[in-house]
Amino acid sequence: MNLYRLFESRFEGRLEDTFLETIDGDRLTYADLADGVGRHARVLVDGGVGLGDRVLVQAEKSVAGLFLYLACLRVGAVFIPLNTSYRRDEVRYFLDDAEPSLVVCDPSSPLCSEDAADVERTVLTLDVAGGGSLSARARAAPPTGVDIAEVPGDHTAAILYTSGTTGQPKGAMLTHDNLASNAKALHEAWGFIDDDVLLHALPIFHTHGLFVALHCVLLNATGMLFLPRFDLDSVLRLLPRATVMMGVPTYYTRLLASPEFTAELCGHMRLFVSGSAPLRAETFEQFQRRTGHAILERYGMTETGMNTSNPLAGPRIAGTVGRPLPGVEVRVCESDGTPLAAGAVGELEVRGPNVFKGYWRKPDKTRAEFRDDGFFRTGDLGLIDENGYVTIVGRSKDMIISGGFNVYPKEIENAIDRLPGVRESAVFGVAHPDFGEGVAAAVVLEDGGGDAGHARALIARLKDRLAGYKVPKRIVFVAELPRNAMGKVEKNRLRETFADLFSVTEEQGG
Ligand code: AMP
Repeated sequence: MNLYRLFESRFEGRLEDTFLETIDGDRLTYADLADGVGRHARVLVDGGVGLGDRVLVQAEKSVAGLFLYLACLRVGAVFIPLNTSYRRDEVRYFLDDAEPSLVVCDPSSPLCSEDAADVERTVLTLDVAGGGSLSARARAAPPTGVDIAEVPGDHTAAILYTSGTTGQPKGAMLTHDNLASNAKALHEAWGFIDDDVLLHALPIFHTHGLFVALHCVLLNATGMLFLPRFDLDSVLRLLPRATVMMGVPTYYTRLLASPEFTAELCGHMRLFVSGSAPLRAETFEQFQRRTGHAILERYGMTETGMNTSNPLAGPRIAGTVGRPLPGVEVRVCESDGTPLAAGAVGELEVRGPNVFKGYWRKPDKTRAEFRDDGFFRTGDLGLIDENGYVTIVGRSKDMIISGGFNVYPKEIENAIDRLPGVRESAVFGVAHPDFGEGVAAAVVLEDGGGDAGHARALIARLKDRLAGYKVPKRIVFVAELPRNAMGKVEKNRLRETFADLFSVTEEQGG
């Protein structure tokens, strides 16, 4: 079934209900949504976009961007949202790889430049206020007349390029069935109810904001408060009117850093969900103390949508990402695919209706990531305890092999974060003349700063708590950890910045 038809079946009886409210207080009903999607679908069809054609989008978050996404579903086109921070060369790659028949971009996007418009394709603009040539055309178009395309369930609905910290980004093809099954599983697991109002502060070029948050709202046919971005003042102002918030961990740490964030503000809240990056146990606990709410942490990725979730009813365990969602299988394996027993650390593999159909035009890469029995190799390292809860300990490519021993950065980060005066840390591997790789840590202190004496003191304390080979041989102090738009620490940047750490200076310890 076309995913848009599924959404329509949920909201067609509630056309006068609120779909969305903007930060300026503009209210759109589900009738407005149907109207907007209908007009955008007409723009697509008139622009020659049909079944399977790609629509590449690099634009700031806007309501028109949502209409465009849903219109693509409606006509069976393939929606390809790009991170707004991609620069000219990166964008050129996506253009060549995706071969879109329509490009929609912010007037400041490199996609709007001459070379993007050189081949036979239409370029329309969509600015931060929702204006531009796309909206002008949509306003002039009739709201009805384009049928919902009949598509098989395995028809590609969207291609999302993986953040790709190494190598070329790969386009993950998500089908209508992938998205529908995951949306239904989440809507059910998180117990959406009739009066829910979702606070939407996430970007809509990523699976979290575009699929997880939006699809839950659409399946529930209730409203959302639609913010252009996470902005502390707006979130504090709007929280009392929301019942559900979805965010990356940094949203929650920023809220906690504000004295204005109180239990009273959350009086109306039903659920806080976190994902896309690890939520520190300390943040979970601090949040619970301040608000009485246990943040519900879940785990997913571009290629699979959501895989696991802590329960709505039942213990939400800090530091874990909960159990597999209904219909999703998760196992822990050695790198050769041999399944491991409960409690053992290995590679997480996932199978289910949520798992993507493959990488766009990269059959070899696709084959390499799937086992013969259909399990997808996530590249995450983790374990499953005897109660079925999954804990993630890092990415396999972030695993450090020092002197032949495997070191899982998360374990070391947890130990460092517990030391007094430490705000947060990131542990990474750097080439080392003796050990192959040496363990290094970038640390942010509560009060900033930090010198060699501090580093030695921290290392001395870690030696009491960790086996020698796990103790960082060097600690560097940074004002903040490098993070991408989804709050993930960019370890590749740390590895690059500190590539010579063990070739130039003496070790501090370990
Ligand atoms: P992306 O494809 O950009 O959504 O990134 C997916 C990756 O983010 C996963 O493979 C994990 O490494 C990481 N991730 C997502 N959710 C969590 C979580 N709750 N805890 C730890 N890592 C997470």
